[in-house]
Amino acid sequence: MTFQLALAGLLGLCVGSFLNVVIYRLPLGQSLVSPPSRCRKCGYSLQWYDNIPVLSWLFLRGRCRKCGVSVSMQYPIVELITGLLFVLVVWMTPPGPLMASRLLLVGILIALFGIDLEHQILPNSITLPGIVAGVLLSLIAPPGWKDALLGVLLGGGVLYAIAAGYYLWRREEGLGMGDVKMLAMIGAFLGWKAVLVTLVLSSFAGALIGIALIAAQRGGMKLALPFGTFLALGALAAMLAGEPIVTWYAGFF
Ligand SMILES: [Zn+2]
Repeated sequence: MTFQLALAGLLGLCVGSFLNVVIYRLPLGQSLVSPPSRCRKCGYSLQWYDNIPVLSWLFLRGRCRKCGVSVSMQYPIVELITGLLFVLVVWMTPPGPLMASRLLLVGILIALFGIDLEHQILPNSITLPGIVAGVLLSLIAPPGWKDALLGVLLGGGVLYAIAAGYYLWRREEGLGMGDVKMLAMIGAFLGWKAVLVTLVLSSFAGALIGIALIAAQRGGMKLALPFGTFLALGALAAMLAGEPIVTWYAGFF
């Protein structure tokens, strides 16, 4: 098991390195494969030894090898978090299609988290193929295709209703269609029960942060983090601890 976990961690670090590229380039409409990574300031082409997850950043003390401009801490953090989550998923999940489906979902959620945080968008080029992938995987892995389709309908439907209601009430967009598609995708991967858990957890986390920001007089709800980041956190929690949460919650009825 130790060997599998070490392998999962290494794979996660490398996937995290790729996710950094996705987070930076996809919203700009740039290719994800070429050209190779460059310094944003001096254009220095990163060599393989500049691209080793976490280690290169530490070794270069967060600076470009050539011009010394500082390189965002986001890079090693995304790599580390992806590595840790991969270890956790492999530790918790029996080998098979479910493990593959969960690792894929982890990667997608981290990319959406980063992109929403930086650009306040949730690209269709991730969420729509994500819905298809989730439904296809549900044919061979839990939650099964019925739960997955219900998850898509419930996830998309609930947020669409909230978004439409908010628009009718305030005449402005409170929730984007990106959030709607993202929760539909989460439903495709995790099923309808997890959609409810995700929604409760992310709304709760969003409200807490919103209140904290208002209390700190940093502005109104408008300044709160984009909802997609909370959906990503909520979905990760629902995936890793969904069953216990549902059991605990159902205990109140
Ligand atoms: Zn440079």
